[in-house]
Amino acid sequence: MSDVLLEIEDLDVRYGDARALWDVALRVDTGETVCVVGPNGAGKSTLVNAIAGIHRARGGRISMGGTDITALPGHKVCAHHIAVVPEGRRIFPRMTVLDNLMLGAYRAGARRAHRATLGTVHEMFPRLAERASQLAGNLSGGEQQMLAIGRALMAQPKLLLLDEPSLGLAPVRVDEVYDAIEQIVATGVGVLVVEQDVERALAIADRAYLLGEGRVVASGPAAELRDSAEVRRSVLGL
Ligand code: ATP
Repeated sequence: MSDVLLEIEDLDVRYGDARALWDVALRVDTGETVCVVGPNGAGKSTLVNAIAGIHRARGGRISMGGTDITALPGHKVCAHHIAVVPEGRRIFPRMTVLDNLMLGAYRAGARRAHRATLGTVHEMFPRLAERASQLAGNLSGGEQQMLAIGRALMAQPKLLLLDEPSLGLAPVRVDEVYDAIEQIVATGVGVLVVEQDVERALAIADRAYLLGEGRVVASGPAAELRDSAEVRRSVLGL
């Protein structure tokens, strides 16, 4: 039986009076890759930010491992084993690569285990070990994305949220990012990835959701969604 990690029901998020998400239902299980695709402005980043506690939901329920986290602010959401790789990476350019990674381990349990986790992150991304004492701002775009993922892994998440991980990267770097995502999922972590690169996300995901104007307009196995008329029309432009 699948082990439900994240469950969202009837989610309603607004900016002032403008509804950005409504009636959104979504689930991510342990060791599952779920992608959310949709045209610009569909609400993908809003969804990630609502789960991460950055935007407060107006209605509905977000639960993680069976615990209601709907009303929790961001700094409390991480205690529920959720880590975020934000859009644009948001690394700290004037801090070293190692110090950026250590920021991810600020939850007490993660801090105690940081040596072992750091070893795992360095094994996955050897460049981050080679460049540990360099300023993060001197890394290439692809390396910065690795750093953002490594920093999130330092929190020892059970659920990893990735917002547009391929944005601005050369195709070969995107391959590396997606290889890393597959390795992370193989360790049992659930992954929710929001992507502009729809084909790429659908290719690695188990299940997918198509957002359109703030609502889920289609969902199902990623392979089925790839062939659906809605996805082909609204996000693939076919
Ligand atoms: P993109 O791919 O362009 O990033 P998206 O699918 O991530 O798009 P969101 O950024 O979540 O979409 O935006 C969803 C809707 O909410 C859009 O209509 C957007 O204009 C609106 N919106 C986003 N952020 C704000 C904000 N801070 N204030 C007001 N409206 C916002």
